Amino acid sequence: MNHLDATHDPALRSWVASANDGATDFPIQNLPYARARRAGTEEPWRIMVAIGDQALDLAAAVLAAEHTDAQAAALAPLVRGDLNAFMARGPADWQLVRESLSRALTMGSPAEVALAPCLIAQSALEFALPCTIGDYTDFYTGIHHATTVGKLFRPDNPLLPNYQWVPIGYHGRASSIGVSGQTVRRPMGQTLPPGSTVPQFGPCKRLDFELELGLIVGTGNALGEPVSIDQAESHLFGVVLLNDWSARDVQAWEYQPLGPFLSKNFATTISPWVVTMAALVPFRVPFTRPAGDPQPLPYLDNAANRAAGAIDIALEVQIETAAMAHAGQPPVTLSASRWPDAAYWTAAQLVAHHTVGGCNLQPGDLLGTGTLSGPAPEQAGSLLELSMGGKTPVTLPNGEQRTFLADGDRVVLRGRCAVAGAVGIGFGECSGRIAG
Ligand code: MN
Repeated sequence: MNHLDATHDPALRSWVASANDGATDFPIQNLPYARARRAGTEEPWRIMVAIGDQALDLAAAVLAAEHTDAQAAALAPLVRGDLNAFMARGPADWQLVRESLSRALTMGSPAEVALAPCLIAQSALEFALPCTIGDYTDFYTGIHHATTVGKLFRPDNPLLPNYQWVPIGYHGRASSIGVSGQTVRRPMGQTLPPGSTVPQFGPCKRLDFELELGLIVGTGNALGEPVSIDQAESHLFGVVLLNDWSARDVQAWEYQPLGPFLSKNFATTISPWVVTMAALVPFRVPFTRPAGDPQPLPYLDNAANRAAGAIDIALEVQIETAAMAHAGQPPVTLSASRWPDAAYWTAAQLVAHHTVGGCNLQPGDLLGTGTLSGPAPEQAGSLLELSMGGKTPVTLPNGEQRTFLADGDRVVLRGRCAVAGAVGIGFGECSGRIAG
């Protein structure tokens, strides 16, 4: 799966004209999956594939075209709107469908006549979560985030000694994961006012975002049967943008001794389009460790991971305040980073570590990377870091200031891959607005 093939050919063009615009996130080399329907209708949710500014409705498209038996079997779960069942079928079927879609959408394909009526403008869609997410784990692989936040919470001991050895994570809450476009209610909770020994109860005053990626598990493993690092990538279906909304004041009071709890479980937002691991192949880069750092233990190390275990995704956080929205001003960039600059562990290492004790993953499980802050302070993936623990407000171009999120703020995450010799692809957006 992890090699370039005809579906990545930069010369490929689509008969869907908007897919050939160099700025689109969704050229024919991408082909991400979402679950969607026409906005404002009660139509059933269907699996769709993005192509330019359009979406191909697979339930309609499969009916409109002829297939081999193998294609029909692979496509059947997609026709039913069940991405989990499609993912469970494994990489051979994922590749079969990717190749079929690529051929059908290529300029000059005889399928154009049948498939053109199965396109819906993405602007006319509303989205559901792309799949059923049974379990959600959030890791803490952003070493610059961990160091900066560690300094704020524990000035004497910022990065705990296990960090260079263990991919740190916690089991999160799957029920409160929502899809881009959602409104998030400011949570209530317990916080400890500065200088006090008695907590107070009330609305969170330090509401924050976290810029993360989410890995979608494709095929699971049986309980008690770890996934080796050699096999880890073949269990991953794709990647989404993920905003791990965080109540920092609640977090500071509750996080010891067992880690985050209510400070994280009120909402998590992901982008609707799942960009497949196959689409990300051209953007692979080596996994490296800073000189002097220990190398991973053998169960977290292999040649393939060292050679190309990381994926170069450029990430960006934007904010649009209520005043900006009212004035018709577009969102502005708060920070930008890149996955390989931010992360201490790769996707394969997270899968290998998660399962090494025998934990079973299932199709649709979501693994968050943790906040992907770059090495420079202005590349931080949270307001906690950008405002240095709330001490230094961030000033926006319209003069407004933020230490943490205000009611009415909308946060937009974006991701984009580009490298010489390949057509750039993107993730669309992951947006969420604080109610009020
Ligand atoms: Mn997080």
